[in-house]
Amino acid sequence: MAYFCQQCGECCSVMGQVFSIVRQLDEFRFLFRNEYTGDTREVEVALPLRRLFLESKVPAHWQNPCPFLRLDNAQGLAFCTVHLTRPDICREYECWRILILDEEGRRVARVMERRYLCLEDEGLRGEWEEFHKSLDTPDDRVWDEAVIRFFRDRGLHVRV
Ligand code: SF4
Ligand code: SF4
Repeated sequence: MAYFCQQCGECCSVMGQVFSIVRQLDEFRFLFRNEYTGDTREVEVALPLRRLFLESKVPAHWQNPCPFLRLDNAQGLAFCTVHLTRPDICREYECWRILILDEEGRRVARVMERRYLCLEDEGLRGEWEEFHKSLDTPDDRVWDEAVIRFFRDRGLHVRV
């Protein structure tokens, strides 16, 4: 299935170390720079997100967020307020290959990169670690299938 983003904001919550605002051009337009590559681009806060951009507070648990990340508390969703003009690396970023959700659609785990499992349900940690130790295959497809089976056997929904 096609990748979709759950708008948790996690990935952008550390991007303050990568991106910075070089100059404000008007109330909602900014020159924005990637400090690693030196690329600079103009970004604009999208019309429907302007109020959120101006009024919402950055949550304390976001240590170093991108200056354009905002949390809508009512919806519990994070928004990139410059979504339409965001940099290419933001457009290309996908945080999972395999997504594991519970009955309510909450994220339980993600397989990121080739074989990195980011487990968010600590109740499964022990079982996962035992299982992971026994997963001894050089074949990535077999590894994926075994991981998918592990979660499906526990009644969880797996999206690939
Ligand atoms: S890309 Fe992933 S980490 Fe980033 S906001 Fe979406 S779901 Fe969260
Ligand atoms: S520009 Fe948008 S997508 Fe990119 S790091 Fe900032 S908030 Fe995230």
